[in-house]
Amino acid sequence: MKTALVTGGSRGIGRAICLKMAEMGYHVLINYKTNTEEANKTLLLVEKAGMTGELLQMDVSDKNQVRDLLGSWIENNTEKYIEVLVNNAGIKDDSLMLYMEDAQWENVIRNNLDSFFYVTRLVLKGMLLKKYGRIINIVSLSGLKGLPGQTNYSAAKAGVIGATKVLAQEVGRNGITVNAIAPGLIKTDMTEGMDENEIKKMIPVRRFGTAEEVAHAAGFLASKEAGYITAETLSINGGLYS
Ligand code: NAP
Repeated sequence: MKTALVTGGSRGIGRAICLKMAEMGYHVLINYKTNTEEANKTLLLVEKAGMTGELLQMDVSDKNQVRDLLGSWIENNTEKYIEVLVNNAGIKDDSLMLYMEDAQWENVIRNNLDSFFYVTRLVLKGMLLKKYGRIINIVSLSGLKGLPGQTNYSAAKAGVIGATKVLAQEVGRNGITVNAIAPGLIKTDMTEGMDENEIKKMIPVRRFGTAEEVAHAAGFLASKEAGYITAETLSINGGLYS
C-alpha cells in the first residue's frame, strides 16, 4: 500500500495536502501534535475521498518521539511504504530580535527545522530501498525574502531550503526528488487575526491564497511526472515576491 505521510495534517495547509494525497490514491498517514478532533476531521475527509488513512499523534520537534513513534510505525507497517513525505508541520512566534526570548528562538527552530531532519532521516531509508520517493518541504516566503519580526522563523525556513538543495543532490540518483514550497500569505489559523483587507493591497493578485492552492502544488511535485524537478523551491505568493 503506497502511503503519504503529511506532518501537521490536522489543520490548514496540511489538511488540504492530505486530501490531495487521497485524491492521488495514497493511504494517508496524518500526523498532528495535539488537536485530535481536527485530525479526525481530516481522516473523515480522506475517507470521503474514497481512500484510507490513519492518525499519528507525534510532536515532530521531539527527536525521541519521532524515533519511537514513527520508527515503530515504519517497523510494524512494512506493507505501507511511505512514498511521499510532506514536511508541513510548523509554527511561528514573532518578535523583534531585540526582544526575542531564548525559548522563542529555540522552539521555532526545533519545530520548523529540526523536525525536518528527525522525520526525513527515518523515512529516507525506505525510499532508498525502493529507489523511489517524493519529499516536499513546506517553507515560507519568509525563508526567501526575510520578514521583520521573524528572525527565528526566517532562519528555520531558510535552513530547510538549504537542506532541500543538499538532500536532492544526495538522493537524486535513487529516484527520489526533494523540493520545497514557499507559500506567501495563506488563509489558515496561522494568519488568523491579520488585517487581510489592508495587507492584500500589497499582493499583486489582491487576496490571500488558499490551502487548496498550496496542496495543488504539492500534488504536482508528488506526481511521477515531476521526476525531473528537484532541489527547487516553488513560490506560491500571488506575486508578492519573486
Ligand atoms: P496551522 O493552520 O497553524 O496548522 C499547523 C499544523 O501543524 C497543525 O496541524 C498542527 O497540529 C501541526 N503542528 C505544529 N507543530 C507540530 C509539531 N511539533 N508536531 C506535529 N504537528 C505539529 O498552519 P498552516 O498555516 O497550515 O501552516 C502549515 C505550514 O505552512 C507551516 O510549516 C507554515 O510555517 C507554512 N506556511 C504557512 C503560511 C500561511 O500563510 N499560513 C505561509 C507560509 C508558510 P495540531 O493541530 O495538533 O496543533
